[in-house]
Amino acid sequence: MKKASDLPIKQYLDVLKAKIFTLKNISWKSPKVIGGSILLLLLMGSGIVYLNSTTSAVYVVINGEKVGLLESQKQAGAIIDEILSEKGAPLGVAAKTHDSITFSSVRIKNSEYTALSKSTLEADISYYVDGAAVKVNNEPIFVLAKAEDGERLLKEFQEYYAKPSEKNQVTSVSFEEEVETEPVEVPLDQALSYEQALEKLKQGNLQKIEYTIQENDSWWLIARKNDMKTKEVLASNPGANEDTILKLGKKITLEKVTPYITVVCEGVRTDIETIPFDVVTKTDSSLSSGQTKVKQAGSDGEKEVQYAYVQKNEKVVTQTVKDEKVLKTAVSQIIEKGPQQVTVAYSRGSGSTVSGVSWPLRGSITSYYGYRHSEFHTGIDIDGDQGDPYTAAAAGKVVSAGWSGNYGYTILIDHGNGVMTRYAHSTKLLVSAGARVTKGQTIGLVGSTGRSTGSHLHFEVIINGDTVNPLNSLR
Ligand SMILES: [Zn+2]
Repeated sequence: MKKASDLPIKQYLDVLKAKIFTLKNISWKSPKVIGGSILLLLLMGSGIVYLNSTTSAVYVVINGEKVGLLESQKQAGAIIDEILSEKGAPLGVAAKTHDSITFSSVRIKNSEYTALSKSTLEADISYYVDGAAVKVNNEPIFVLAKAEDGERLLKEFQEYYAKPSEKNQVTSVSFEEEVETEPVEVPLDQALSYEQALEKLKQGNLQKIEYTIQENDSWWLIARKNDMKTKEVLASNPGANEDTILKLGKKITLEKVTPYITVVCEGVRTDIETIPFDVVTKTDSSLSSGQTKVKQAGSDGEKEVQYAYVQKNEKVVTQTVKDEKVLKTAVSQIIEKGPQQVTVAYSRGSGSTVSGVSWPLRGSITSYYGYRHSEFHTGIDIDGDQGDPYTAAAAGKVVSAGWSGNYGYTILIDHGNGVMTRYAHSTKLLVSAGARVTKGQTIGLVGSTGRSTGSHLHFEVIINGDTVNPLNSLR
């Protein structure tokens, strides 16, 4: 990389030194020596004059081009080493260069010497690093500057999602995709530092999509069409909320994030959950009609539930109850009621649809009503994250709220006129049997309890005891 080339003046001085050395070995008494010494002094004298008015320097030659002067090859080498380490420092490595850098020694007049500045030298060199390409399914996604940190990066990314604790036993962590690192040489400005690389993996791949608003579009429909969540669509349009009116033909931007790598974690998690209390109504003839009295106040119970789960990045995709232990039993609320004098007979609905039912959750439909394979799907599955609140589709009375086999934690609401709605696989129920709910009231949180793959809300509309396609009733 660094090569020295000799110069006539240097040779001249070397010869001079050699002469001094040779002469020293000859006796001073010899007349030849005296004559030689005089000659030598004369030569040295002219040499000193020459040395005082000029200076030795080196040209720094990059790829055959002289870029400037420095005092010596040693000084130039030190500056270049400094530049290489400074350039690579933000990436945690020393930069390298393939440029041919040589030095050509000169003697020039003192007045003509101007030292090459570090910044000029820095700008004249091109840099590279020996990094590691992170490849997902054989596609490189970025290059990590420090090749030996590749494995550590992938491990730390796994640990970002797999968080073992006393309440969370992680049994396996893997990547869904084929992920590998491969040594690769890249220009310095194309490599990422460890921190940048980790951040990039955590943030995922952000794509900006331009979308033109079509007829009948709603924020939610746009989200569904683009396989996004409503809140993500709204977030990419600052200032917009669900009530913001969409103008036909207007272009909006959608910022869609897809993960580069999917970390699959499996394990067993222990949660403490509330057991909602039941409401029991008894008739007491000592009370007058329409009069109610709370005989016993209800109180929620508590239980410890062990879930076997599979998680992909932050999302729980399957969750099954492994074990349940009641820590505190729920106490039913007992309400005494005066005898009913008027029997209210709900008129039975006639059609298969009912109007005025609103979406309990805004999300994409991951499974529709009807046959899927050999099974009949009695509702629709609306995608949601674990813990997303969902609401009552219409006003009514909670018939039941609790565990219901394959449905997991489920709420059944009677809306009158033979219409009921069911909300299954909840992680948490926020209402109890007997409660009156209003349309749009938050009644539970999305989960994946019961027979469920992935957190979602299974929503059913039941008319006169039979399920119907909720999409015919929803608005
Ligand atoms: Zn379902």
